[in-house]
Parts: sequence; structure tokens; C-alpha cells
Amino acid sequence: MTAGQPIVETRGLVKAFGDVIACGGVDLTVRRGETVALLGPSGSGKSTLLRHLNGLTRPDSGEVRVLGVDVVAARGAELRALRRRVGVVFQQFNLVGRLTVMENVLCGALGRVRGPRYGVVTWPRSLRAEALEHLDRVGLADRAYQRAGSLSGGQQQRVAIARALLQRPELVLADEPVASLDPETAASVMGLLVQVCREDGLTMVCTLHQIELALQWTRRVVGLRLGEVRLDEPTELLDTVRLRGLYLSDPVTV
Ligand code: ADP
Ligand code: MG
Repeated sequence: MTAGQPIVETRGLVKAFGDVIACGGVDLTVRRGETVALLGPSGSGKSTLLRHLNGLTRPDSGEVRVLGVDVVAARGAELRALRRRVGVVFQQFNLVGRLTVMENVLCGALGRVRGPRYGVVTWPRSLRAEALEHLDRVGLADRAYQRAGSLSGGQQQRVAIARALLQRPELVLADEPVASLDPETAASVMGLLVQVCREDGLTMVCTLHQIELALQWTRRVVGLRLGEVRLDEPTELLDTVRLRGLYLSDPVTV
């Protein structure tokens, strides 16, 4: 795909849970190579919007196109094929604690290897080498054969980033990737996530609730409040005062 091409496009995306409007008509375009933060207070619809992008949630109405795929219409094999192109990083890391760091990273390549659907996967040597390279990039090559569960939270999220990279994704989605970490670790893991995505030319969309992290590490901030996009600007044009408007309880325009 050429630079600047839309990777994510939502048009009039509406999703309600009973009386709660989680997404109230969201138009969002993210282009190739962008690193975007969806920022807003708890309940503003960040996670719901993100979940639409790989078909984990379906909208009540509106359009969702990701990597050229109509996500609303996609089912079965088409949806699985799309998900192989989308790396996901979760707040709670989602590693298998009893497996080694290496085994967890290799799981990122499950969609790349042929083999029995159920049963033992034999990992090609080249994939192991690639996994080790990604572990090196996140500073954990020396931990490859330790149990994942023995690592700190920040280290576990670095492993999860390496796992997502081994998938060779075109788009990375991260839902509150650093919300479970202490502030110092959160900043360094967030910086790492953005850095590796930029190095690999990946498009990255993450949800964040901390203004400072969004300002420090992402290039564009989409501010959400009560399911609506209230601002959408390059990070360099934003300041904390304007962003705090998202978090006020009265309905001011920010
Ligand atoms: P955020 O990630 O910004 O905290 P969410 O997208 O998780 O916001 O939620 C937006 C709103 O939708 C909230 O009011 C939340 O309670 C509601 N919501 C989200 N998912 C569900 C669900 N599966 N069932 C019912 N309500 C939900
Ligand atoms: Mg959320």
C-alpha cells in the first residue's frame, strides 16, 4: 500500500448498549504510518470504537473499513484473514504465564505457520530467530527461556509487543496498553510501542486515558467524550488545557 493511504475508515459508526450510546456517529480516518491515540475519560467509548476495527463488535449502523476490508460485512474466513493482519496489544498483556517468553512470542506467528489445527506446532528455526530479534528490540532477549509469568508487568507488556510484531501486522491496535503499569514504566513501554511501530512503518491506534502519555508519544490525538469525537488534531497543536476539556463533566465544546 502507498504512504498515506487510509488504513482505518469509519463513517457514521453508531453503537448503543441499551440506553448508553457508546459510539454516537463516529467518523474516523487513520492513514498508513500514523500513530493515533484515542483519548478520553472512562466510558467515552474508546474501547468500543477500537473493538469495531477488528470485528470484535458490530455497529448498529455505519461503515467500518480496515485494510480495505468491509469489517461490518466480513464473516468467517475473511474476518480471520483480516485479524491476521492486525496485531493486538491488551491492557492485561494476555501472556500464558506457564510458557516461556519465547513460546509466547512464537504464538504471534500461529497465523503464519502451516500445521495441524490442533496439536503440536513445530516452529521453524527461522521463526525462532525472528522472535529472538523482536525480543532483542524490546530489550528482553536474555529472558527468552524464562517463564513469562515470572516477569514484571512492564516486561510482560514488552513480550506482548514482541508477539504482536512477530505476527507481521500492518495495523496495531492497543487498548489501554499501559494502564496496568506504574507511571514510569507506562511511559517507557508506551515509548517503546510507538518506536517499534514507526521503525516497521506500522499504523498504530491505541486507547489511552492519560493526557500526558498521549501528548508525549503519539502524533495525533482523537479526543472522545460520551461516544463522540470532540477533537482530532496533530499532537503538536494540542495542550493539556484543551485536552482537559474532554474530562469535564459539563458539556463544553473543547
Ligand atoms: P472506554 O473504553 O472509553 O472506557 P467503553 O467503550 O468501554 O469506554 O464504554 C463506553 C460505554 O459503553 C460505557 O458507558 C460502557 O459502560 C458501555 N459499554 C461498553 N461495552 C458494553 C457492553 N458490552 N455492555 C453494556 N454496556 C457496555
Ligand atoms: Mg476502555
